[in-house]
Amino acid sequence: MTATTLDAALDLIAEIPDFPEPGVLFRDLTPLFGDAEAFAAVIEALGAAVGYDVDRLVAVEARGFVLAAALGYARRLGVALVRKPGKLPNVAGRVDYALEYGQATLELPVGSVHEGQRVAIVDDVLATGGTVAATAELVRSAGAVVTGVAVVLELADLGARERLPGLPVHALRTV
Ligand code: AMP
Repeated sequence: MTATTLDAALDLIAEIPDFPEPGVLFRDLTPLFGDAEAFAAVIEALGAAVGYDVDRLVAVEARGFVLAAALGYARRLGVALVRKPGKLPNVAGRVDYALEYGQATLELPVGSVHEGQRVAIVDDVLATGGTVAATAELVRSAGAVVTGVAVVLELADLGARERLPGLPVHALRTV
């Protein structure tokens, strides 16, 4: 894959002003997911970002699922799917965390992450880092090790890296 291919893929990310609320510039990966070559380029680059010292991927509902499923298939890695509340029959761990505005909860399914596993977190957009920090907490509470975070897009102004001390963060593009 050339840098041009990846750049062209990332250029497909749309910017939607004032969604889901006034003042937020929503980064929409829909056009990227809809373009087979762009999607493949992004999955390949995420694979490089995740590295090889990993034996499980963890993703957060919902766009993270698309990325982690494709990457897990490509790299023959199992995937753990962290859910919003009320979706899981068996919950191994639950974390409440602060959003930019308000509160959210994430849950880890029983049996999805095992003690001693080396786990990479995959998501579409890294904004404040609260979602990744909560996911890392869930993974660690299951006795696994978080090796790093791989995201398609990082919004640098929101200071996620300060919330994720000691955690290697790889973003395919930082804006
Ligand atoms: P945060 O916890 O603030 O880092 O937010 C990251 C999560 O919220 C990711 O799962 C993203 O899908 C979503 N998100 C936050 N901000 C945006 C944004 N501006 N555009 C698209 N998705 C976003």
